Amino acid sequence: SAKKLGKDQAQVFDVAFIERMNQNWMLEQELQRYLEEDAIQVAFQPIYSVTAKRIVGVEALARWSHAVRGNISPGVFIPIAEEAGLIGALGAQVMRRGCREVAAWNEAWGVSLFLSVNVSAKQFADAGLLAAIHSMAGECGLGAELIHLEITESVLLMDDVAVERTLMEARGYGMGISLDDFGTGYSSLSYLLNLPVDEIKIDRSFINDLHLDPRRVELVRAVLTLGQTLGKRVVAEGVEREDQLEILHGLGCEFVQGYLISRPLESEAMNDLLGMVGKARRDC
Ligand code: C2E
Ligand code: MG
Ligand code: MG
Ligand code: MG
Repeated sequence: SAKKLGKDQAQVFDVAFIERMNQNWMLEQELQRYLEEDAIQVAFQPIYSVTAKRIVGVEALARWSHAVRGNISPGVFIPIAEEAGLIGALGAQVMRRGCREVAAWNEAWGVSLFLSVNVSAKQFADAGLLAAIHSMAGECGLGAELIHLEITESVLLMDDVAVERTLMEARGYGMGISLDDFGTGYSSLSYLLNLPVDEIKIDRSFINDLHLDPRRVELVRAVLTLGQTLGKRVVAEGVEREDQLEILHGLGCEFVQGYLISRPLESEAMNDLLGMVGKARRDC
């Protein structure tokens, strides 16, 4: 009967729900263990200047290579870390590793790459966040002005006063503030006027079909104009194709990031890439 069917469905739903809860709980426990063992890895993706024709910075991206489950995507484990109260510890590990690697590359290759790190809204609740980041950079010998904090609009939806205070604190240290995934959240425009944001990263969903959809070209053009008017750097994320890069170049977009330039790399591969680029530069 329909009634019986309904009951069975409810039961199926409950089982699936409980399984998901269990799964999340297990992942939480395991993530905690990996964090305790300092076993969360960091990948680095270059950010490239089209006009200077060189890598100007790298974005640090957390990686979890699970001994049994294989690679778990940040799209899965970052929300789990946020829910479980582990995002502070995770963020600190990514920041520490990032500072260490970038300071070493800058020293070894005579460059001054900046380090971009994603900071979750949840981390902003920690009043000691900026002081901790600042001292970590200092310990590694990386100038605070080479640290860029990538935030999303979810940060800006929080308590205005606390967010503004934290962002001003970052600015006080000379760090850059970058608005990530731009165009996918709410009411970014007033934030751009009122908060100390230095850089806009156009979400890759707008870059995806750039070569197919003239309306997207106009949209990106508008964001570039906005950036220029307000004095903010603009980075295009998710550039995968030569024709997308050409369009962006034609629009005067200076900074790009994406698989076309390079996928996120392990630190050793990133070091090799910087060495190769440095050698090519010296040879010509
Ligand atoms: P995001 O900050 O917007 O980072 C860019 C994402 O786009 C990365 O995914 C990167 O691998 C991917 N990507 C870069 N170029 C291309 C491209 O050309 N095509 C495509 N299809 N994708 C590209 P990833 O590493 O999976 O990270 C996903 C998100 O997880 C990040 O998005 C960020 O919001 C979050 N995340 C990663 N690491 C951390 C972290 O240490 N802390 C926090 N709070 N969030 C993190
Ligand atoms: Mg980012
Ligand atoms: Mg992000
Ligand atoms: Mg993004």
